[in-house]
Amino acid sequence: MSAQPASPLPEATTGTLEILDLLRSGKILTKTEIAAQTGFSRSTVNQRIDSLLEAGLVVPSGAESTKGRPAGSFAFNRTAGQFLVADIGATAMRIGLCDLTGAILDEVELKVDVTDGPDVVLGMVKTEFSSLLMQAGAGPATVLGVGISVPGPVDTDTGRVVHPPIMTGWDGYDIPGSFRNEYNCPVIVDKDANAMAFGEQQTTYPHVEHLLMVKIGTGVGSGLISDGRLHRGADGAAGDIGHNYVPKPAGVENEPECRCGNTGCLEAYAGGWALLRDLQAQGLELATVDEAVRLLRSGERNAVRLARTASRLLGEAIAVTVNLFNPRVVVIGGQLAAAEEYYFAGIREAVYRRSLPLATRSIEIVGSTRGNQAGVIGIALLVAQSVFTQYPLPHIEAAREPAPARQPA
Ligand SMILES: [Zn+2]
Repeated sequence: MSAQPASPLPEATTGTLEILDLLRSGKILTKTEIAAQTGFSRSTVNQRIDSLLEAGLVVPSGAESTKGRPAGSFAFNRTAGQFLVADIGATAMRIGLCDLTGAILDEVELKVDVTDGPDVVLGMVKTEFSSLLMQAGAGPATVLGVGISVPGPVDTDTGRVVHPPIMTGWDGYDIPGSFRNEYNCPVIVDKDANAMAFGEQQTTYPHVEHLLMVKIGTGVGSGLISDGRLHRGADGAAGDIGHNYVPKPAGVENEPECRCGNTGCLEAYAGGWALLRDLQAQGLELATVDEAVRLLRSGERNAVRLARTASRLLGEAIAVTVNLFNPRVVVIGGQLAAAEEYYFAGIREAVYRRSLPLATRSIEIVGSTRGNQAGVIGIALLVAQSVFTQYPLPHIEAAREPAPARQPA
């Protein structure tokens, strides 16, 4: 979430946000069309377009446009600045430079150990941010938003992670504050599964109002889109299904300890770290979750057996969420979802068996369409949404604007 408290929206500024929103959707429109589509008077549209032009957020478009729009049309200026984003995972991170629509212009992937703590990990992020900007011939002054997604629960008001099970040393760390010296813009922090849910919904399922994203990576988490909006819950903790209690499956002697300090959590059976732990316990020499996934995909007997059990437990937990929440689409992503052939059948079977027919009659349970880019795309889109749907807008002083007049209906 934004580290800056959302400004109250004065009546005087609503026209600008609505017009900007219309143009951000990719439309190229004349003032007459904008007035018709927003219901604002022609003079309000004139004033708002003038201030958006002055801010550089909108550009004239038309005569030279290949889309055959008439002269006097206006478009969102996606190149009026940049966003910098980082999708930090337990063992790897993707760092990207994006245009103002959230489209990725350039990106790098790095190995990382999130337990090295925020100084080390965010230090690496800052180094990559600088080099991405330099390669693009840009600098910190044109960065209009920074987005960081992390594998842990995030306090939506402060952008701080709170008691993160796997992010040793990050508890309460002021992530937005750590960027303040370099970047004079909003810094958005959200948990990885929320970013992925938003990215999948915005890019692949724009007409789906209710979507559940389940990330099976090193840990297990989920993000919910409800009524077309990201549902973070009262404190930002919504969707943390990885630490749901799972009754001990047959053949398991002792409930496994979880990284959160409890025992018997879903991810202690079904997360990537649990798969790695169990394969190591059987004497297999593996060091990372990636190696465990590779072994699984090769069809190794022990790995397949563990994945089958895990898929059933995941499916049962997802079924509970389906019963509570009735999503139209369930997207499964994360490292382990790459081994789709060993997970999806068990998940689907459990969801259909455990959920009510009304909730499953038109449900889709699918893999992520964005693969390992899902997180970075999602956090970039969350930054765009945060920067352009509330005041202060970049380069615009809200107080200067007179109240808009609506056209008579
Ligand atoms: Zn746990």
